[in-house]
Amino acid sequence: MSQGNLYILSAPSGAGKSSLIAALLEKQTQNKIMVSVSHTTRQPRPGEENGVHYHFVEVEEFETLIEQGIFLEYAKVFGGNYYGTSLPAIEKNLAAGNDVFLDIDWQGAQQIRQKVPSVKSIFILPPSLAELEKRLIGRGQDSAEVIAERMSKAMNEISHYNEYDYVIVNDDFEQALTDLQGILRAEKLTLSYQESQNQALIQELLAK
Ligand code: 5GP
Repeated sequence: MSQGNLYILSAPSGAGKSSLIAALLEKQTQNKIMVSVSHTTRQPRPGEENGVHYHFVEVEEFETLIEQGIFLEYAKVFGGNYYGTSLPAIEKNLAAGNDVFLDIDWQGAQQIRQKVPSVKSIFILPPSLAELEKRLIGRGQDSAEVIAERMSKAMNEISHYNEYDYVIVNDDFEQALTDLQGILRAEKLTLSYQESQNQALIQELLAK
C-alpha cells in the first residue's frame, strides 16, 4: 500500500478553513482523510471537546512534550498560546495510506516544509477584508478586542500566502470545496503516485 499524502491547510481566522475541512471529510470518496488533532494551551471555546478539536493541555505539560520531542512542529500562535502537531498519530495514519491534513499556521508550515519536503501546502484566502471581518463578528464567540486582534493576526497570516503550493479564494463555498477536492485528486494523478499504484499495469504495457 502506498503512503498517504500530508497536507497543510492554513488561512487567517475567519476564512472558512474549518467549514471546508468539515465538508471535505463529509464528502470524501477516495482515500480516507484524517485531520490531525493538535495540542494547545489555549482555553477551550464553548462546544469544543478535549481530544476532538484539540488536546487541551497546561503550559507545563506542553513544555514537557516539547522536551520529549513529540512535536513535528509547534509555535506560539495566538494570544501567546502554544499550538503543536504531534508526530505519532500522523505517522501511523500516513503509513495506513490515509491522507492527513494539518490545520496549522504559517510558522508551523515553515517548520514542516523543512522536515517533510513532500508536504503539499494550501492557503485559503477570504474574498475581501470586509468579508473576513464580517465572518469574525458573525461567529459571536469573541469580544470586539479579540476580533480586532484577530484581524491584525489575519493580515500577518495572509502576508505568508505566497509560501504555499496552492491558493484557494473562499468566496463561493461550494467552488472552494470543489477546488480543494481538485487538489487532492490531482495529487493522486502525479507520476510518482500513479507508478506506485499501477506497477503491474506499467510492467505489462512496457513488456514488449
Ligand atoms: P484557533 O485558536 O482559532 O483554534 O486557532 C488559531 C490558529 O492556530 C489557526 O490559524 C490554526 O491553524 C493554528 N493552529 C492550530 N493548531 C496548530 C498547530 O498544531 N500548530 C500550529 N503551528 N498552528 C496551529
